[in-house]
Amino acid sequence: MRVRFAPSPTGHLHIGGARTAIFNWLFARHNNGVFLVRVEDTDVERSKQEYVDSILESLKWLHLTPDEPLTFQLSRIEEHKQLINQLLEKGLVYPCFCEPKDVEDRLKDFKKGIAEKYDGTCRDKSYTPKDLKKPHAIRFKLPEREKISFKDLIRGTVTFDIDQLDDFVILRRDGVPTYNFCVVVDDIFMKISHVIRGEDHISNTPKQLLIYDALGAEPPIFAHLPLILGSSGGKLSKRDAAVSVVEYKNQGFLPEALFNYLVRLGWAHGDQEVFSKQEMIDFFSLDKVGKKGAIFDTKKLLWLNGIYIRNLKFNEFAKAAAEAINDKLKKLTAVWKEDMLGQLFELYKERATTMCELVDNMISFAHAPEHLDVGLIKKWVSPQTKTLLFEFVKGMDEMEEHTHENLIALARHICELSGVKLVALAQPLRLALTGSTHSPGVFELMEVLGCEESKKRVKQLVGGL
Ligand code: GLU
Repeated sequence: MRVRFAPSPTGHLHIGGARTAIFNWLFARHNNGVFLVRVEDTDVERSKQEYVDSILESLKWLHLTPDEPLTFQLSRIEEHKQLINQLLEKGLVYPCFCEPKDVEDRLKDFKKGIAEKYDGTCRDKSYTPKDLKKPHAIRFKLPEREKISFKDLIRGTVTFDIDQLDDFVILRRDGVPTYNFCVVVDDIFMKISHVIRGEDHISNTPKQLLIYDALGAEPPIFAHLPLILGSSGGKLSKRDAAVSVVEYKNQGFLPEALFNYLVRLGWAHGDQEVFSKQEMIDFFSLDKVGKKGAIFDTKKLLWLNGIYIRNLKFNEFAKAAAEAINDKLKKLTAVWKEDMLGQLFELYKERATTMCELVDNMISFAHAPEHLDVGLIKKWVSPQTKTLLFEFVKGMDEMEEHTHENLIALARHICELSGVKLVALAQPLRLALTGSTHSPGVFELMEVLGCEESKKRVKQLVGGL
């Protein structure tokens, strides 16, 4: 089995594209097949090298590397043209000398409600080799058939009426073959057995099947994946969520988490949500891909990313962060010593949903809070608190080893003597240390921060009251 992911470099890798690539990759891995990547760069006006680089970078980040060298559609343009000549000789396609403007004008004459179609002006015109020197496009001659059907692995039998189509262009006047022709020829060259792609391509499939027929080639098996939808039920747009993989990378998502999330968009294995790569490979099959569009849910992605972050060891986190958010990581390593960083990471990872959030929180903990929230002070700092905090600082001075166990024992002891709950001391301490009432365990944080800095921050709160 040979499959391919065929991105057009007209933008960054869209998460819909990433999901298509993932499904192709899993299908190949599950079936001991071959996964290929072909850059479809024949739209010369819109294709950009910058996007080629960005797409390849995103694929690499997601660990979706092709099993054979990458190919570029434009590099096969001569073969494409040769095949078009062969079809021309067989009379299966024909030159169209109509000026594009005239074709457009004639289309305008069509009554409303009728699909815009080429009227066949040049279809049966004879022409000489000399005529072929004049500017022309090449059009595919639709055969005398009523319907075109194919079996889609996801949607079942799909049938199109041939009168929905027209004699479509396969070679533009500028000498560049069109998308539908190139895709077919390249898929034949690359011996693609299964074409797994987005549902937005389904209307191209009948044209492509006709081209396979004309070239005398066996078509591949098709599987059209349902679209990814926004929360309103329409096609996912920038208004719903970030749409390119690179944005997720920059926001501090882990490639493994995004991969896992995208796999579950439209595919299910019971109600399991978290999968190892091997499980995804073992369980993946196209018959478990639903027909309905899948709604993109940012909250779920954040939840899943949090799970993946919690599973990281510090060195794995440092590697992932260096790859995706290096500038931020540098700010972090500038404020914390390496041995402290590892300990802090263990504490902060418990609550994080993205690497950015995690790093930001760790950076901000490096500095004593500057402005304390008046509302929080009102809520957590009573007249009695000052005494508790003084007792605590005194206890710290007398303590030999400032481990979190010793610190919490001291806090408990003080609270018991004063007849208050632990929270009455723990929250003001947290506020003093972090400026917030949400943080990892405050006594664990104190242990990392060290006795002197912790005391300094507590005194700052007390002094400021
Ligand atoms: N180049 C097309 C795209 O980016 C994909 C074509 C295909 O998979 O057949 O949408």
